[in-house]
Amino acid sequence: MTATTRRLDVRRWPVWALRPRMLVLLLLVDLAAAGLVSAGLVLFPPGRTEVLGAVGLAVLGIVHTELATGIERVRRRVAHSSYFDLSSVWTFAAALLLPAPLAGTVVLAVYAHLWFRVWRPAGAPLFRHLYTTATVVLAVQVAGRLLTPETFGAGPVDPLVSYPALIAAMVLYVLVNQVLVGLAMSLSAERRLSWRDLVGDWDDHVLEGATLCLAVLASVAVLRQPLLVLLVLPPLLVLHRAVLIRQLEERANTDAKTGLLTSSAWRGRATRSLLRARRNRTAVAVLILDLDHFKTVNDTYGHIAGDEVLGAVASTLLREVRDGDLVGRFGGEEFVVLLSGLPVAEAGRVQSHAAAERIRRTVRTLAVDVGTPDAPVVISDLSVSVGAALSDVDGNTIDDLMQIADYALYAAKRGGRNQVRLGRPDGMARRTADDG
Ligand code: GH3
Ligand code: MG
Ligand code: MG
Repeated sequence: MTATTRRLDVRRWPVWALRPRMLVLLLLVDLAAAGLVSAGLVLFPPGRTEVLGAVGLAVLGIVHTELATGIERVRRRVAHSSYFDLSSVWTFAAALLLPAPLAGTVVLAVYAHLWFRVWRPAGAPLFRHLYTTATVVLAVQVAGRLLTPETFGAGPVDPLVSYPALIAAMVLYVLVNQVLVGLAMSLSAERRLSWRDLVGDWDDHVLEGATLCLAVLASVAVLRQPLLVLLVLPPLLVLHRAVLIRQLEERANTDAKTGLLTSSAWRGRATRSLLRARRNRTAVAVLILDLDHFKTVNDTYGHIAGDEVLGAVASTLLREVRDGDLVGRFGGEEFVVLLSGLPVAEAGRVQSHAAAERIRRTVRTLAVDVGTPDAPVVISDLSVSVGAALSDVDGNTIDDLMQIADYALYAAKRGGRNQVRLGRPDGMARRTADDG
């Protein structure tokens, strides 16, 4: 069966794998977008100049995608992530300049081109692209309502009315998109999503904000000196490069094998978290975890299987900690965790001990499916030793806390492994100013 016949076979469409409630949302959003655009075009047929404007913006959007795919190809070679879409420059400009239904057609043209040039070759499911397109169409419909020729147009405008309207339109544009995307994510997610998952990455919002600013400048150019709109293209391509830098940064901070923070990235963030805790009069705990007899896992099942176990332990750690906590790979089969937002003193000790115990117990129950050259096996009977240290009680810097947690870890190993030790082991003298 060829790819084309597979695509034509309705029963094989990936959309059927969606949960029913997600399917309902998808239908509602797609229908609302299509309905608003077509009804608007029929009820209020646009004039010739407006249609010309829409064609111009759509062509610019298409040229932008063509120019950016060159950069994106380079970027994908370095960072294996998907295309970064900055086409809001054209879709938001359409919202500012054109009647809402016509602006919707600009979105449709730019996104249809993106589908054929970027997303279809990348193997993305069509229903997802249709949903994204519909959310942008709706965002344009909502944001466009705030702007009239009196608030944003070729004639004189009153800044006191026009600027707040412009800012409100930007906020609404982002909000409509974000809420619809967040809704889809929460309806299709297997687990409960955190607030942070739903709100998205701060850096992405900054980038989107920069794109919308360019959209405003492009619109002013269209109104005053249409040819100057071409000047928006070079800074836009530089923005595509900015994404590349961000991704390289992210990659440098991520341990490739486990997806956790690298040791140095963890240390930097842990230091900031400790400072924040001091300001808020809360405490943090540092845990160092070392898998017990891990060499035996490698010797018995091979290093590839060992790596899969490391990945499974990493996922467990991420699941067992709270949103603001930090999980890193310290090295080899050792991990570091920073628990934040703890109460100070004794109550903090009790909570950090309970968290470390919970992690230890969960690792004990892990059963990791791995494929070996002979047959698939399940690796279980894993255990971890944990050393922990609490801020203020055990030390005031991340280095001090790590030192104490490391002593505690070795006490746990000496004590027979598969256990948690907290703070200075007995017999270890409190460091004084003299020996530091
Ligand atoms: P214990 O900590 O309980 O004292 O025993 P252990 O066997 O875990 O400790 P040891 O420090 O002697 O050995 C650590 C092992 O971890 C040895 C090394 O092969 C393995 N290891 C370290 N990094 C990796 C890795 O990235 N992948 C795999 N598969 N194994 C690793
Ligand atoms: Mg070790
Ligand atoms: Mg070990």
